Amino acid sequence: MAEEKSTSIATAAKPADGRRPSAGGPRGERRPAAGGPRRRGGPFRPRRKVCRFCVDKVEHVDFKQVQIIRTFVTERGKILSSRITGNCAKHQRQLSRAIKRARYLALLPFTGA
Ligand SMILES: [Zn+2]
Repeated sequence: MAEEKSTSIATAAKPADGRRPSAGGPRGERRPAAGGPRRRGGPFRPRRKVCRFCVDKVEHVDFKQVQIIRTFVTERGKILSSRITGNCAKHQRQLSRAIKRARYLALLPFTGA
């Protein structure tokens, strides 16, 4: 999932029309310094995530159970990654398929808001 961001700053392609490209507003993302010591058990969420489907012993993620599936979709309709939800690979695969089926049946939105 690589979102390419075109950082094209108008460089003499056009005559100056008085629009300066702003230097990128503050976007609430902070990342630790690269190459820093890897902190274990830091103050940020030491809790280990477990796959909710494994906990519930779900054999197959059902696309008809919209209430469950919906919790793994952002309000804009994007599927949350397993890194966020803590799903295991097997269930994440089933979940993504279930979400896509549910979208097709208009149980879930392709895009929200
Ligand atoms: Zn699982």
